[in-house]
Amino acid sequence: MKKYILQVCLLFSAYAVAQPVMPMRTLPLVPLPNEYKASYEDVFVLTNQTKIVMMSDLFRPELELLQSRLKTAYDLDLPVVKVLPSDGNYIIITQPESETGKPEDYDLNVNQNQVLLNAEGNAGLFYALQSLFQLLPLEKSAELKIPCVTIHDSPRYQWRGMHLDCCRHFFTKDEVKKYVDYLAMYKFNTFHWHLTDDQGWRIEIKKYPLLTSVGSMRKETLIGKLAYDKNGKPMPSADKYDGTAYGGFYTQEDIREVVAYAKSKYITIVPEIEMPGHSLAALAAYPQYSCTGGPFETWTRWGQTDDVYCAGNDETFTFIQDILSEVMDLFPGKYIHIGGDECPKDRWKACPKCQKRIADEHLKNEEELQSYFITRVEKFVNSKGRQVIGWDEILEGGLAPNAAVMSWRGTAGGIAAAKQKHYVVMTPGKPCYFDHYQSKDKTKEPLAIGGYNPLDSVYAYDPTPRSLSADEKKYILGAQGNVWTEYIVNFASVEYMALPRMAALSEVLWTQPEKKNYKDFVKRLKMHSAVLDKMNVNYAKHFVKEK
Ligand SMILES: [Zn+2]
Repeated sequence: MKKYILQVCLLFSAYAVAQPVMPMRTLPLVPLPNEYKASYEDVFVLTNQTKIVMMSDLFRPELELLQSRLKTAYDLDLPVVKVLPSDGNYIIITQPESETGKPEDYDLNVNQNQVLLNAEGNAGLFYALQSLFQLLPLEKSAELKIPCVTIHDSPRYQWRGMHLDCCRHFFTKDEVKKYVDYLAMYKFNTFHWHLTDDQGWRIEIKKYPLLTSVGSMRKETLIGKLAYDKNGKPMPSADKYDGTAYGGFYTQEDIREVVAYAKSKYITIVPEIEMPGHSLAALAAYPQYSCTGGPFETWTRWGQTDDVYCAGNDETFTFIQDILSEVMDLFPGKYIHIGGDECPKDRWKACPKCQKRIADEHLKNEEELQSYFITRVEKFVNSKGRQVIGWDEILEGGLAPNAAVMSWRGTAGGIAAAKQKHYVVMTPGKPCYFDHYQSKDKTKEPLAIGGYNPLDSVYAYDPTPRSLSADEKKYILGAQGNVWTEYIVNFASVEYMALPRMAALSEVLWTQPEKKNYKDFVKRLKMHSAVLDKMNVNYAKHFVKEK
């Protein structure tokens, strides 16, 4: 009997070898699914006779999303049934038979008779739909063909983030929602919303109305770059300003609307409220929380201001806690970003209150005063059941006990934090800052802050440093692309700088590294860009010329 089985096995393997190997069909899927097989010839044909089989009410939101897409794109109203039809083809939405504990995983299996969408959680089913939508025909044609494919998919990282600075330039609520749409299309799950900075306070806080009535406006904006003399010394007299008042903010109602919109796409928003530096717009409104007492104006230029929150004044902390209380009411996510970056210490050095705090708390220096500041705010945020995350400067003077770190000045901060068993999100300037140039020929590009960060560099990134041990690697939550907007003046420019680098990053975060291939990515991106064209997205087109 054993011998017989062996013979049969050999027969099958010989048969398998004899078959011509079909080349894998390239489909316009971004990010690339982790397990995927596509047939060259077979298709599922979508008609107005196709039924949708829905066995569980859990996926009602995703069913509605599918129905609305089929209606708007192809004018199809497909009947929804609860049992498998005896004839005709169908789309079936199911859950796995046993629990997987992985709500973002999904299966998408298309054969000639059925499209199967299978997931344990809503997020997974939402991602199955995003993949299906990338495979649907762009136009309403006579035959709506979907290529046959077998996908089993699972994300590599749990923090798949994109950031947007709405302070240096302001983007409307509807533009922010559009940005969220792009994130959803590429299966990102985190949106880091930069809401306060020296150049503008963008979130309504009911207890402190001057934050928006004063802090959301600046009287004018720097034109081009700051002026320097031949020796590299700043020449403020040569700086040029546009003379036009600029501002904008989101009401709490706007914020709730955007949070709910993102939630419907399984995206958590991490709000950023900057402290102790990058706070000049707040101090323009409430100068009593600075070291000098002001007066100040919302900043009109780029770079760092010397004026920061006074760390020696207890009322500063009351002010910040009141603000964070309203922020935490608006944003239900686990993490609150409290900035912590680029805080000059000159004012603290000269401030009697700050110096008294250093003496009273037995702190060594101003770096430890920054650590005291962050730790005190963290204690408050933790008391509300939330966690703080901050830029890697929060490591200086000692990391607050529970803080997560966003590593932006390279990866050293992230590595140090992971070794201290703190969670880390990697956002090193290269290649995670999407405000850098996309081409070496800067004369052909819109003015940018500097640097060179092309698509292939973003694609090649691996967020998990090799120097970490297996245990330390568990602290790397994922990575994030940051879009700082000093030189990004409108939403079309946001699209140009963010796309397609965001698409490349999505594959870094979703697809296992051994399955990634840049040439294959570019090939898929060229196909997928038809979707962006259809959506009228102003994406950068350098990749079109790549082979
Ligand atoms: Zn002070």
